[in-house]
Amino acid sequence: SSRWAKAIAIVKEFEEKCETPCEKLRQVADAMAIEMHAGLASEGGSKLKMIISYVDNLPSGNEEGLFYALDLGGTNFRVLRVHLGGREKGVISQEFEEAIPPHLMTRSSHELFDYIAQALAKFVATESEDSRPLPGRKRELGFTFSFPVRQLSVASGTLIKWTKGFSIEDAVGEDVVGELTKALDRVGLDMHVAALVNDTIGTLAGGRFYNPDVIAAVILGTGTNAAYVERAQAIPKWHGPLPKSGEMVINTEWGNFRSSHIPLTEYDHALDAESLNPGEQIFEKTISGMYLGEIVRRVLLRVAEEAAFFGDKVPEKLRVPFILRTPVMSAMHHDTSSDLKIVASKLKDVLEITNTSLKMRKVVVSLCEIVATRGARSSAAGIYGILKKIDRDTLKEDGEAQKSVIALDGGLFEHYTKFRMCMESTLKELVGEKVGKNIVIEHSKDGSGIGAALLAASHSKYL
Ligand code: ADP
Ligand code: MG
Repeated sequence: SSRWAKAIAIVKEFEEKCETPCEKLRQVADAMAIEMHAGLASEGGSKLKMIISYVDNLPSGNEEGLFYALDLGGTNFRVLRVHLGGREKGVISQEFEEAIPPHLMTRSSHELFDYIAQALAKFVATESEDSRPLPGRKRELGFTFSFPVRQLSVASGTLIKWTKGFSIEDAVGEDVVGELTKALDRVGLDMHVAALVNDTIGTLAGGRFYNPDVIAAVILGTGTNAAYVERAQAIPKWHGPLPKSGEMVINTEWGNFRSSHIPLTEYDHALDAESLNPGEQIFEKTISGMYLGEIVRRVLLRVAEEAAFFGDKVPEKLRVPFILRTPVMSAMHHDTSSDLKIVASKLKDVLEITNTSLKMRKVVVSLCEIVATRGARSSAAGIYGILKKIDRDTLKEDGEAQKSVIALDGGLFEHYTKFRMCMESTLKELVGEKVGKNIVIEHSKDGSGIGAALLAASHSKYL
């Protein structure tokens, strides 16, 4: 029928607009490397903030003691108690995780930090006797805060802006460690924040603890970001003393990257315009878990409206922003049943769409495929850009095989198998077979929390 033809035409056009051939991805990677240079050259020199983390030494593996970590992401927050036992005994950690109540994401700094401090206090109360700090000493905490922060030192920094679903006006420009410390005081918890780290930095530190070849970390979760180890000499905007290690960890904040080479569609423009942060985090909005399902929803709504894809009436639920979450998209995308029964049940449960034909469900799966593929391939191009920046994209003259390990973490990477496989194969495609042998993607599970504890240990005030 003509309706069907119209629907297919809309999907086809979307597919073409989302294409990411290798040549395009190479241009994305080149643009990424150029922006990285610009961001390192001067403050505000690029869309990439290239934030100096003040971490100039990554964990050696010899860190010891009991440390706490607090990980505030985009969806969840976690508290960890980490026993660091050096190389011999390794790491033992206990943790507690909870979803951040959505209303706290847009209210006041006070309310958010009080809530976190209370949860932390409850967790500390479960501490066993032999875990208590020595008399006269405070407990120490590594704070993983997954939003752009202008670091003032390794244990302080001001919030530049919120991203993902957060928007708490009065916190912008404030020192997040100060805000947390005040809340800890209010709940009567005597604790010292020894390190403030971005989740990418935590993941890099956590990854390095287990593998000395880790040179970069990438988060693919609610949002996306990357950090890597830079030569201190290659950071013109750094006017402090050169660190002994000669290195400095940089938080790229690549979520805010944009390039004319990244394919953007009308759906992306609309999503951006209606978001909490229009014009910002464009790379993030095409890649990360907060947005992928929402892009699929927008295309489905269009075929429903313009091609009566789901019948004469447009399903009302389909009009609700963010109702189609990426985990649901992922479940539909991975449906291997011959009649796509998971797709059918998700459409019914989430969108109240019933009576779909197999043909229609196949269209839904293909939309998931298109959106996930663009995101996965773009993130691979981003990683390739970092490898280019630090000269790890080619074989060295002396032919020695230098391994480059990239620590990956985040719910999207962990659970969306097709996304992960596509990202990994695209990276191999971009670097080529020979170099590809020396590039390793490693899942650094919970690396960001443990990494924060490790960095708290190496920056402990009792050292
Ligand atoms: P955060 O980014 O908030 O720190 P996570 O790293 O745990 O937290 O990532 C959570 C995000 O991962 C979710 O918002 C969701 O977008 C994505 N995600 C979680 N589970 C799945 C899944 N099964 N399939 C696809 N994406 C998922
Ligand atoms: Mg996280």
